[in-house]
Amino acid sequence: MSDCLFCKIVAGEIPSSKVYEDDVCLAFNDIDPQAPTHFLVIPKTHIGSVAEVSADNSAIVAHIFEVIAKITKEKNIESYRVVSNIGEQAGQSVPHLHFHVLAGRDMTWPPG
Ligand code: AMP
Ligand code: ZN
Repeated sequence: MSDCLFCKIVAGEIPSSKVYEDDVCLAFNDIDPQAPTHFLVIPKTHIGSVAEVSADNSAIVAHIFEVIAKITKEKNIESYRVVSNIGEQAGQSVPHLHFHVLAGRDMTWPPG
């Protein structure tokens, strides 16, 4: 999608602090970190949010979770939170599917 911020990051048109990349997904540090470790994992193809996940693209999501497990293991992160906001009320500000990975501090529940 030409006017999508995260599609532009995938295309290299906007710089990012890359954590991991393969053919399917990209992980990069959040520009406004909410924890000592806070990176985002996104599909390289444009999917709007979890609400657009279907049988046609769910393998991408499964792959992203494998990547999250791999990155956190490599970084020796044993406890972390994975968050995906869907829609305005839940706080989604970028309409391209992304999973926040947060770690390095105590987390509260329920989230605000
Ligand atoms: P959400 O609000 O759940 O849609 O998450 C979007 C996230 O993208 C926020 O945590 C932002 O801080 C982050 N973000 C926005 N622009 C950039 C950017 N250029 N590079 C890295 N992270 C970004
Ligand atoms: Zn996009």
